[in-house]
Amino acid sequence: MTEIAREVERRRSFAIISHPDAGKTTLTEKLLLYGGAIQLAGTVKGRKSDRHATSDWMAMEQERGISVTSTVMQFPYRERIVNLLDTPGHGDFSEDTYRTLTAVDSALMVIDAAKGVEERTKKLMEVCRLRATPIMTFMNKLDREGRDPVELMDEVEEVLGIQCAPVTWPIGMGQRFRGVFHLLQDRVHLFPGGGERVTEGEVIEGLDNPRLDEAIGDQAAELREEIELVAAASHEFDAEAYRRGELTPVFFGSAINNFGVEELLDEFVAHAPPPLPRPATVASGKDADPAEGEARTVDPAEEKLTGFVFKIQANMDPNHRDRIAFMRVCSGVFRKGMKVHQVRTGKDQRVSNPLVFLAKDREGAEEAYPGDIVGLPNHGTIRIGDTFSEGEKLKFTGIPNFAPELFRRVVLKDPMKNKALNKGLEQLTEEGATQLFRPLVNNDLILGAVGQLQFDVVAARLKDEYGVDARFEPVNVSTARWVESSDPRELERFEKRVEEHLARDGGGDLAYLAPTKINLDLAMERWPDIDFRATREH
Ligand code: GDP
Repeated sequence: MTEIAREVERRRSFAIISHPDAGKTTLTEKLLLYGGAIQLAGTVKGRKSDRHATSDWMAMEQERGISVTSTVMQFPYRERIVNLLDTPGHGDFSEDTYRTLTAVDSALMVIDAAKGVEERTKKLMEVCRLRATPIMTFMNKLDREGRDPVELMDEVEEVLGIQCAPVTWPIGMGQRFRGVFHLLQDRVHLFPGGGERVTEGEVIEGLDNPRLDEAIGDQAAELREEIELVAAASHEFDAEAYRRGELTPVFFGSAINNFGVEELLDEFVAHAPPPLPRPATVASGKDADPAEGEARTVDPAEEKLTGFVFKIQANMDPNHRDRIAFMRVCSGVFRKGMKVHQVRTGKDQRVSNPLVFLAKDREGAEEAYPGDIVGLPNHGTIRIGDTFSEGEKLKFTGIPNFAPELFRRVVLKDPMKNKALNKGLEQLTEEGATQLFRPLVNNDLILGAVGQLQFDVVAARLKDEYGVDARFEPVNVSTARWVESSDPRELERFEKRVEEHLARDGGGDLAYLAPTKINLDLAMERWPDIDFRATREH
């Protein structure tokens, strides 16, 4: 086995998905505790934001108690190296979350046991399904009264369309919460907060162990009965079905009490997939467009470096104007100071000051392997979706851009600042949370977003980072579609006829801005040879 193959084998890269307030932040902190040494990168969560509170928009995050940007964390656990990619919890930043999900190999779903499956969990699940991402489920807050565990699993199966296999099972809940039973290991782990009779997190081997009756009294008999029923009625854990994204192993616990988390982490490192091969296309000739080339699957153990950018973020340090492009390494080894090839521009660049998010015990190491994330500082030359290689004209596929749902016209207070405004908008939209459209027929600047909050963030950052005072006013656009056609003549006719509805996005692609949904439906009917797309691949 080569060194790269060995490193790939040890890596587990995942993201946590949940509805806000289910306990993602709390669980993240507990997971990091198990990693012992922690390196936090780009953390802007309220409770840790003292270091970063300097700029306005970050202050805004604090005020509203939300996190706008993602974090990358790496920690060693047992023989593995775990990469945890945080996703913003706020609904308005869902696009960012979606793209982060393209950079991981599996996901962990946190559900509040009192609430069950919530709105955002459903949406995130849809995204996971696009790539059949394997998912483990943590039912949280068992220290409180919640819903019946069987009912919770039924809901996940029905609403999310994935089979549930309980790995741990709760013993009571709320006041009566006594611990969890590990179905695969036939072992009870008692909840230390569960009463004076139990010692600190005692472990009892075997469901039939008389010690269990001693420890939890009548609840022992109840548990045995319940487990018999559950074992008969639910799916059995099947590692292959999990890795195919068809079945989710389910764990119960209380993140805030750090209970049930170790069981989760142990099964996670045992069964979650290592970095997987990824689909790409390769240009056939020297000047050919790789996006139109032949399909090729990139194996993580290949010797040459490849990776793609899934997120761009303003530098965490407001004194630095440059932005960080987050690249997921897909194959080979990334070394500090190495020369990388940016496929879209055809340019080589030396990365002398990368951010490598390494666990503390690996400090000094400056190599990143497949599954790891590298931060590439840049001044606006890198875009979301960019592929990097050691020269191969390769493009990773499947990194979506979603059509925005809200639109505003950007209005400048001081017309002299037009140049700064354009620059600011270009750079901010490059980060991917908002999209800029320039109509073909006038000089308007139209900003599209998935949520209202994003406009506020852009306005605050324009002021803070570019010294531009801008307002956003309503504009008569309700939805956008990227348009394409395999028939260039038809596209040309279309462009002429509906010019007043067309705009170019930040990347120069043509988009149809529809004033109403009905207008869009009519246009689609009238122009059957034009493709109207709600998502665009970078
Ligand atoms: P996020 O929005 O998903 O990141 O959720 P947080 O981790 O911020 O948690 C939301 C709220 O639930 C906070 O007040 C937490 O203290 C609380 N919480 C998290 N885990 C538990 C738990 O296991 N039990 C209880 N009772 N509360 C919890």
